[in-house]
Amino acid sequence: MVLVVKKTLMLILSCVVGAGLSLGGLSPAYADSPRTVAPILGSVVRGFDPPDQPWLAGHRGVDILSQPGQAVAAAMDGVVSFAGTVVGRPVISLSHGDLTTTYEPVEASVSPGDFVLAGQTIGTLVSGHTCPGDACLHWGLKRGDTYLDPLSLLEHPKIRLLSSHDMEQIRSRSADMARYGVDGRVSAAGLVTPVSGVVTDVYGMRLHPIDKVWKFHDGLDIGAACGSPIVASAAGTVTMSGYSGGYGYRLVIEHGTVNGHDLKTAYNHAQSFAVPAGAQVSQGQLVGWVGSTGTSTGCHLHYQTWVDGVSTDPQLLLPG
Ligand SMILES: [Zn+2]
Ligand SMILES: [Zn+2]
Repeated sequence: MVLVVKKTLMLILSCVVGAGLSLGGLSPAYADSPRTVAPILGSVVRGFDPPDQPWLAGHRGVDILSQPGQAVAAAMDGVVSFAGTVVGRPVISLSHGDLTTTYEPVEASVSPGDFVLAGQTIGTLVSGHTCPGDACLHWGLKRGDTYLDPLSLLEHPKIRLLSSHDMEQIRSRSADMARYGVDGRVSAAGLVTPVSGVVTDVYGMRLHPIDKVWKFHDGLDIGAACGSPIVASAAGTVTMSGYSGGYGYRLVIEHGTVNGHDLKTAYNHAQSFAVPAGAQVSQGQLVGWVGSTGTSTGCHLHYQTWVDGVSTDPQLLLPG
């Protein structure tokens, strides 16, 4: 299932903000490092809506749509003040001087008393919080007993609340990805695995199976049945959708800046494509079908990634 309709909806995990943050009251130890990060990649599907009176119902935090099993990071440097179960829900609380951040439902990989740094993994998200998808992180912020909007910690949050139209798109995209059989997990780099299959060749030097010479293999081969769906690893613009020599039918997507880095992906040897050059695609959208066009010995996806214009091993960028 996919979590992000547009890359502008993503919370940027590596987003380092805080230079202008007002974190008055933080102890000096923390004030040296006022860095704040979003605790998980995903879209905010429910905002902060505190009740007028403490005994009334409301929403004392924000919900970020993600996937079960995704890593949850500490939003700021702090000390684990609680890691356990509250009314059947696994909860982690971090103390940051007079501020407290809470994360639920999250299975903790830290213990009370542990010192954690902003961005450090503190546990994994599980299902349980009411949510339009498989799992949502409820992220809370308190000063003393007063609940605050945790998004206020992010000076320039690259997020907005989803409209009901967006939510409908997320639901249908989730259903699509389930139908395509692709893994919906989003990596820290912001990518989903483009096809369901097995890795048949890794990125790097190898003896070319056809030319019988040592060559640099500039992508990751994922073996899959001919005609298997290929989905976009992230939202972006299709800059090529056509035939390109040894690559056969080749699709290239420019994703713009994802998590602080310029990202580009390419999908080669396809049977055919579902989108033309110039098309805007969303993460997890069907873009083509696996084939064996160009220099290829069987149906597979030769998948390529570039970070800031540099060819990069896709296995470093995809979900593990
Ligand atoms: Zn919530
Ligand atoms: Zn290959």
